[in-house]
Amino acid sequence: MRVLVISDVHSNLTALQAVLDDAGEVDITWSLGDIVGYGPEPNECIQTLQSRPHVAVAGNHDWGVLGKLDLADFNEDARIANLWNREQLTFESLAYLQALPEKRIEGVCTLTHGSPRHPIWEYVISTSVADANFAYFDTPICLVGHTHVPILFRQAAEDMASQAIYLPEFQPVQLDDARYIINPGGVGQPRDGDPRAAYLLLDTEELIIEHRRVAYDIAATQAKMRAVGLPRRNISRLEVGW
Ligand code: ZN
Repeated sequence: MRVLVISDVHSNLTALQAVLDDAGEVDITWSLGDIVGYGPEPNECIQTLQSRPHVAVAGNHDWGVLGKLDLADFNEDARIANLWNREQLTFESLAYLQALPEKRIEGVCTLTHGSPRHPIWEYVISTSVADANFAYFDTPICLVGHTHVPILFRQAAEDMASQAIYLPEFQPVQLDDARYIINPGGVGQPRDGDPRAAYLLLDTEELIIEHRRVAYDIAATQAKMRAVGLPRRNISRLEVGW
């Protein structure tokens, strides 16, 4: 099965559309959370995802708009944008977000937003955090988002320290019988210094992954954000990929 793995769309429809076009034909899309927040088109992003075969888990921004998280834990710009996103959401969009689980298992993969240990909030940003998380899922692979940084953590054997590998672009990587925590990067607000939308293709039979980047019309997203008065810092960060 050819799977498109995406995360952190953050209401950026232009970026999402670029990824869907670039990925080409896939059997299914797996979304690792934070479909909303920050950006200008929350309903449109949800509808776009709904219009194709997909499964999804919830992220902290998805819970934020639902009032399932205290927005006091968000930084000010994220909170303002989250409240704006909340006001835009239709009843159908809210129902869609409400139904998202924190974790799900799809074949050889566990899907979650933050980490298998703390699905909504924890950032897997280092090998030490990754190491602590390998005990919290049973499948060979766990797919996470949340940091908006594409990376792979490989644990060669149980209780061994993992190794962090930055994913090469457009280079298929063959996974072996080690265990993995893999982050596809962010679609709608990359934070690794590369402003292009990030995603991952996964062949679930061959266990081959390919990390990809695609340029999108950042100015178009920024113009939409400006038009509705979203925080300036969230607008400018898109062009630097932070
Ligand atoms: Zn996010």
